Amino acid sequence: MNKIIDKHDLSDDLLEEIKIASMVIPFRTNEYVIDELIDWEQVPNDPIFNLNFPQKSMLKYNHYKKLQTAIIEDYSPNKIETIKEEIYKDLNPHPGGQICYNTPEMNGRKLTGIQHKYRETVVCFPSEGQMCHAFCTYCFRWAQFIGKNDLKMSLNNPQFLIDYLQNHPEVQEVLFTGGDPLIMKANKISKYIIPILEAEIKHLKSIRFGTKTLTYWPFRYVSDSDSEEILDIFKKIVDSKIHLSIVANFNHPKELKTDILKAAVKKVQSTGAIIRTQSPILNNINADKEIWIELIRKEVDLGMVPYYMFIPRDTGAKEYFEVPLVDAFRIYIKAIRKLSGLCRTIRGPVMSTTPGKIQVVGITSIQNHRVMALKFIQGRNPRWVGRIFFAKFNRKATWLNDLEPALAKKFFYEHELIKYLHPYGSSQIDKVAEKNLESEEITGET
Ligand code: SF4
Repeated sequence: MNKIIDKHDLSDDLLEEIKIASMVIPFRTNEYVIDELIDWEQVPNDPIFNLNFPQKSMLKYNHYKKLQTAIIEDYSPNKIETIKEEIYKDLNPHPGGQICYNTPEMNGRKLTGIQHKYRETVVCFPSEGQMCHAFCTYCFRWAQFIGKNDLKMSLNNPQFLIDYLQNHPEVQEVLFTGGDPLIMKANKISKYIIPILEAEIKHLKSIRFGTKTLTYWPFRYVSDSDSEEILDIFKKIVDSKIHLSIVANFNHPKELKTDILKAAVKKVQSTGAIIRTQSPILNNINADKEIWIELIRKEVDLGMVPYYMFIPRDTGAKEYFEVPLVDAFRIYIKAIRKLSGLCRTIRGPVMSTTPGKIQVVGITSIQNHRVMALKFIQGRNPRWVGRIFFAKFNRKATWLNDLEPALAKKFFYEHELIKYLHPYGSSQIDKVAEKNLESEEITGET
C-alpha cells in the first residue's frame, strides 16, 4: 500500500475506506494491475480500481460502521476477530450450498477439495492453488482467502481425485479452480496433471482451468521462471488427446489492451489449448452494453471463445455489484445484436444457483401475463437441462430467489430438488437421477 501511496495521490478518506473495507473483503494487488491496468486519473471511478480495491460502498452501512468503530476505539484483536466472524456469516460465504450439497464421498471419506454437482463434471480445488495474483472485490470464492479452514475447499492428495474419477465413468471433465489454479508453480501443477494423464482414464475427455492469470499476471506464460514448463504441461494434455480449455476471466476490455496480455494469449494458444472467456455482469464495472460489445469483440479478435456472462452470486459485496436480471438480459441481447455470429457463443445472463445453472432467455407475455423465460443449462438432475420455465416479470429481481413462478404454484424442479440435496453430493444421488431418467423415458416426459 505504501508504494501506491507514494506513486498516486489518494485522499486520506479513500485510504481509510480501503483499509477498513479490506478487513473483511480480501485485498491483494500487484504492480502490473497498478501500473498497467488502473487509470489513476479516473480513480475512484476506474473499473479496474473497483474490481481490485475494497471500498466503503461495498459493505453494508452497519458492517462498515462496526469495523470503523473497532479501529477508532482500538479494540483488541480478539474482539475485532469476533466482529469479522459475524460479518463473514452475513456475507453468505458459500452460495448455492456448494460445501454442504456438492462435496462427494469416497470410502466413507468426505472429499472436501472436490465438488461434484453436475453429472459430467468434477471440480477440483488444489490446495496450492487457493490464491490469486490479485483479488477481485466481487469474488464469490472470497471464503478461500480469509484463513478459515472450516470454510475452505482444498485438496492436497491428487490420488483422491484420480480414484474418484476412476470410480465415476459418468465424469467427462475435470475443472481445476481456486483461487486460481494457474498461480501454482509448474511442478505443483504437474503433481495433479501428470498422474491423471498416466492413469489413462478413458472417459475423461477434457481438462479445464478456471483462471484470471491472463488479466492479473500475463507474465505467467511469457517470462516467469517456469513459463515454459507450464506451457509444456498444456502441450502434454493436448498430446494425450484430452481437450484443454483455459477459461479466462475478463471483466473489462481494459484488461485486454496490453502487449504482454496479447503475447500470453498467443503462447497459451500455441500449445493447442482453447481459451474460453467468462465474466459476471457487474454494476460499477461493466454493466453497459458498449463495454460488453467491446469486450466480446476483442476476445474474439484475439482468437478466444466467449463462453459465459454470469450474474454475480448472492455473496460478499453483492449489493454493490448486482444488476437486475431484466437489465442484464437487455444488455446481453443488445450486445449480441451488434456482434457477428462468431461472437454469439457467449451464454447469458446465467445464474449459478443451488438447483443448477439457469439462463434468462427472454421476456415475453403468455395469456396476458408478463413473464421471464428461464432455461436450465446445467442441472443437479441432468433431466432438467434444456427445460424452459417461467417466472413472473420482476423488474427488481437480481437472483432466482427473488422470482415467483408464473402460471404455476411452484417451479417445476422444486418438488424434486430435495432429493438432489444430499449432504455428500451427486456421487450419492446419481442413482436417484438415473432412476428418474428411466422413469421419465418410459413416460415420455420432457
Ligand atoms: S481471480 Fe477468481 S478466485 Fe481469484 S479473486 Fe478473482 S474471482 Fe476470486
